[in-house]
Amino acid sequence: MFDDRITLFTLFGFKVQLDASWIVIALLVTWSLATGYFPSNYENLSTGGYWLMGLFAAAGLFASIIFHEFWHSAVARHYGLPMKGITLFIFGGIAEMTQEPDRPKTEFLMAAAGPLSSVILGFGFYGLELVVDSGSSPTVPGVIFGYLAFINWLLAGFNMLPAFPLDGGRILRSALWAMKDDLVWATRIVCRLGSGFGVGLIAIGVISFLQGYAVSGLWYVVIGMFLRGAAQASAERVRQRLVDSNRGE
Ligand SMILES: [Zn+2]
Repeated sequence: MFDDRITLFTLFGFKVQLDASWIVIALLVTWSLATGYFPSNYENLSTGGYWLMGLFAAAGLFASIIFHEFWHSAVARHYGLPMKGITLFIFGGIAEMTQEPDRPKTEFLMAAAGPLSSVILGFGFYGLELVVDSGSSPTVPGVIFGYLAFINWLLAGFNMLPAFPLDGGRILRSALWAMKDDLVWATRIVCRLGSGFGVGLIAIGVISFLQGYAVSGLWYVVIGMFLRGAAQASAERVRQRLVDSNRGE
């Protein structure tokens, strides 16, 4: 699923790639904005106008995710961790490491950089909204900036869930790792939490779906499945890497 990649450009030495799954998500995001979010937040625009708003907002979301992943990568590079690049897919991106951080402090700073950058960028968009919409009625750019402020804060919030491999899970792992000086134990706990959160999201999705919220229900199921799969894959990867590095002791 994650093998078909398109290289977009290089940003300060980081290769930015697009997974094929992102295209489906980008269309879904644009469609739900053009037919749902924007028509209910801004009145009397043509269908084409709403689609244009959807496209601009989706491009802004796309740039926001690259910004978030860029700061993970920049902090990682500062601490000498080799980075493969940034890949975008589903509800976000991954700053791909070829090596795990060697100290809890490095992991903490690397993980915290992403959500922090999203919160700051969200305030930037919120500021733009206030400037553009200083009049009595909202404007098209103002509504788009408002959406981007909200989505950046949502991105920070979602990523702060204490579910590995999300940023919040990495932050929690760095704390557990620092506490007991046992990376394997810390990894096991946060991966279980990650897997549990995934199952919880799938359950919420199924319930929403059955109650008639098909689109949001489907979103929860997709994100839940991704989270569960990623947690299990990360746990296995870290375990394997530690087995390899302990071999011969
Ligand atoms: Zn992140």
